[in-house]
Order: sequence, then structure tokens, then C-alpha cells
Amino acid sequence: MTAVSPTNLDTRALDILHRVWGYGAFRGVQADIVRTVAAGGNALVLMPTGGGKSLCYQVPSLLRDGTGIVVSPLIALMKDQVDALRENGVRAAYLNSTLSLPEVREVEEALLAGELDLLYVAPERLLLPRTLDLLERAPVALFAIDEAHCVSQWGHDFRPEYGQLGVLPERFPHLPRVALTATADDRTRADILNVLHLHGAPQFVSSFDRPNIQYRVANKEAPKSQLLDFIRGEHAGDAGIVYCLSRKSVEDTARWLTAQGVEAVPYHAGLSPRERNTAQERFLNEEGLVVAATVAFGMGIDKPNVRFVAHLDLPKSMEGYYQETGRAGRDGLPSTAWMVYGLADVVNVRRMLAQSDAPEEVKRVEAGKLDALLTYCETAACRRQVLLAYFGEELREPCGNCDTCLNPPRVHDATREAQMALSAVIRTGNRFGAAHVTDVLLGRETERVLALGHHQLPTFGVGAGHDEKFWRGILRQLTSLGHLTAGEHHGLSATGRARPLLKGEAEFRVREDSLLPRETVKRRER
Ligand code: ADP
Ligand code: ZN
Repeated sequence: MTAVSPTNLDTRALDILHRVWGYGAFRGVQADIVRTVAAGGNALVLMPTGGGKSLCYQVPSLLRDGTGIVVSPLIALMKDQVDALRENGVRAAYLNSTLSLPEVREVEEALLAGELDLLYVAPERLLLPRTLDLLERAPVALFAIDEAHCVSQWGHDFRPEYGQLGVLPERFPHLPRVALTATADDRTRADILNVLHLHGAPQFVSSFDRPNIQYRVANKEAPKSQLLDFIRGEHAGDAGIVYCLSRKSVEDTARWLTAQGVEAVPYHAGLSPRERNTAQERFLNEEGLVVAATVAFGMGIDKPNVRFVAHLDLPKSMEGYYQETGRAGRDGLPSTAWMVYGLADVVNVRRMLAQSDAPEEVKRVEAGKLDALLTYCETAACRRQVLLAYFGEELREPCGNCDTCLNPPRVHDATREAQMALSAVIRTGNRFGAAHVTDVLLGRETERVLALGHHQLPTFGVGAGHDEKFWRGILRQLTSLGHLTAGEHHGLSATGRARPLLKGEAEFRVREDSLLPRETVKRRER
């Protein structure tokens, strides 16, 4: 293998960038990464979705002798990626389960003959002894491990085959490895370093800020019509993705939007591969199509002009939220990340977590991730500051391009009300849902209240000065912020975090807008 001399390396890299891709310059840290990897070094690249990770291994693969081997879990996209490269004159191919045996042979021969610049390989294919033997005989320039967070059990995309990629440093210790991901929390990062033996390798961390995305979160009231108002008002005729939790709500939403004149197609794992492909193709090729989808949609989708990403249900974590919203505005033009959420969402997601079969430790980590997301939802501060802080990045000034910056919410000291709500929960025995607790607070003599004798409690009716929506808002925020937790049958109970509040040692400040009917807030905004 010939070493690339550093003096002419930059010139050659730029020449390739220009000649093959038609781009004038590298973006941000791309140049440093290309230099490092082309010179034979390892690297960890943390770059947000749309940041331009591909060039970080494609250009070095072209600069170095031999073939760049790209490990990617995105089988569905390999063909498109390879076709696009070929169109630019790059000798690219892929190996995955969609190829016939003769096709596999052909690719293998091309690899051995040194006739490939880039070879995309699915992880399960890479791990086959046949493939590993082949790679030992072939001229390999480097290994690029794309979507490297898939090695981590802590991430939301754990793939067991990725966990076995330690075979690369073991069998090919002298070949450069570049791991790339858009998911950057500390645990995931540590796992990547461990599995791929990248300790001591330089880490290239780009800013996660996506200044062109406007972040907004609203209370869920009439989600579908809120969504329709949003699309009609701000994104008529635009391409967008609407994320829903269940397959059923995906179907409902797509059907409903279409009936309202906003053309939408469904996408979820329950559809046939053919239907999914058609939806994906249409989304990529048509101008203003909306996809209603579960999280199954989007990994690796590279459509530059997605103008909005809407969440009708709460994502599971801040990472999930960031990745999903990050599919908007890859072209750098103004785009919107819009979400609605309500108490039922908080309760549902918490319950799903509690009921999962994951080991306790994993559950705790997941609960922490959800907490971070809920804090983000309830914040009265700049959302971008909260979001970036989660990824370890400090944004000095409020961004001016999120709902809290654009319409600063009034903050209300609700310490007394929070105490009332908490004591209603506790006095009714830490086991009733929000509806019953609200009845008690409002002093409603429902059948259930009377049967349980809850009309005799000192907290009965103490909250009559506010309405139902107000108490729902308080209970949601207490739950979001971890003072209450939801158990079986959505029953709420107070946690240790509630104690300082009850003792009057802590304040509870909440956004006023989440406690008032939407119409009132709208009027005030005018
Ligand atoms: P990621 O894998 O990080 O999500 P990609 O590698 O797919 O991002 O790049 C996102 C988009 O940015 C692509 O359309 C790509 O062609 C474009 N891009 C990347 N680097 C550059 C550059 N240096 N100049 C111009 N466009 C770039
Ligand atoms: Zn802001």
C-alpha cells in the first residue's frame, strides 16, 4: 500500500471532491477527517444527520489504494447509494442478501481484482467466514462503520451483528477504521470505542445544531385538527413526515389527511416490502407528499427538502426525537419540527417502559432518556438550548427560532396547586388515574368518589377554583417532571421527588399556556 504524502493530499482530496461530486469545498471538519483517514489513521465521527458523513469515508477510499469497505445496516438503501456513486463515475458495489449467487460472485471477483473503489456490505454478510476470508485476500483501503451507534445496547437501534464487529480490529489491525454516527451520548460513544477498538483515535465531533429547524411543542388537544391547521397554515404543498406511535394511527392519519386534501401515504413495518418501497419511492420522487409513519420510516432517508417533521405521539428519547426531526431541512432551508403531547402520552410511554422485558439497568437508562425528553417538552426556556445541552453542547444565547423564543410563555408559580394535586394523589391512596384525582380536586360527587368515600377527604374540592384542563396540566407536568409516576391502569403515585415540594422546600413553576384552553392562549398571543 503506498502512503499518501500529506503535502499533496489536500490538493488531491479537493480535486476528487470537485471532479466526482462537483462540490467546491469540504464542510466543517470533513477536511480533517479525510486527511486523518486517508493517511491511514482511525477516527470516530459524530456528526448530525445530514452533516455529510458519507464523504468522510468515500473520499479517503478514493485516495487510498484498494477498496473502501462500508458496513451499513441500511440494506434497503444500498442499491440507491451505489447507483448514485456509479453515476458519478465511482466504481461501487454492494453485498447483501438481495443479490443472487452469480451476482455475489461477480462482486467478489471485482473486489479481488482491485476493480472497486467502494463496497457496501451488510453486517451479517461481513461476518460470514467466507466474506472475512475474501477480505483477507483483497486489497482493502479502509473500513467505514456507518450508523456505528448500532453496536450499543443503550442506543435505540441495537443490532446484534454490530456487536460482533470487534472482528475487524482483530483480523485487520493494520487497516484504518472510521466509525460514523449521529448519536452521541457518552455511553454509546464508549461502546463504539470498545467494540471497534478505537481508544486513542481522534474523535471528530460536529455541532448538533440545526439552525434552520424551528422547534415547537404544543399541548395535545385535538391532535389531527391541530396537525391539519399546522400543515395548511404553514406547509401547504410541502413534503413532510408525520410520526405516530401505532400502525393503526399511522393508517388513520394518512387516510384522514388525504380526505382533507393533504395527500398522505402510510408507512409502517406491517406493510409488505412492496408497499413500503412504493411509499418510500413516492416520497423521494414527488414534490409535496406527506408520509404518516412509525419510527420504521426514515433511517437513512436522504430527501433534502423535507419541510416539516410532525410528532403526533411522543418519541421514546431525546435521541429519537433529534434523529427524527433531523430529517427535516437537510437542504438548509427553513423547516419545522412540530410536536403535540399530552398526559396520556406520558403515562403510555412510561408504562411501556415499565412493562418491557429489558434488564433493570437498561430500563433505568431508558427512563432517564424519557425524562430528558419530557423536560424538553415542558421547558419555558429556549428549546434549542435544552436540546443541545442534552448532547453536551452549550448554546450561549437563546436561539430565536423555537416556540419559546418566539412566544415566550408566561411562567406561573404553581407550588400551591402542585401541593394540592400531590396530596389528592396521596390521600386517595396513590393508585387512581388523572380523571379520578381531578374529580376529587374539583369536588365532583361522582359515583366513584362517593363509593370510595373520597368526598370526605380534606383535599376534596380544594381545587374548585380551577378547571379540569388546569388540573390535567398540573398532573401531566408533575408526571413529566417525575414527581408522580404512573403504574398499573394509569394509576398515579407520588415519588420521592415530590417530598421537597410537599414540604414547601421547592418551587413548582409551570408554563401557563399548558394550563389554559388553547383559545385563551391564542387570544393572548394576538
Ligand atoms: P449524513 O450521512 O451525515 O446524514 P450525507 O453524507 O448523506 O449526510 O450528506 C448530506 C447531504 O449533504 C448530501 O446531499 C451531500 O451530498 C451533501 N454534502 C455533504 N458534504 C458536502 C460538501 N462538502 N459540499 C456540498 N454538499 C455536501
Ligand atoms: Zn430558542
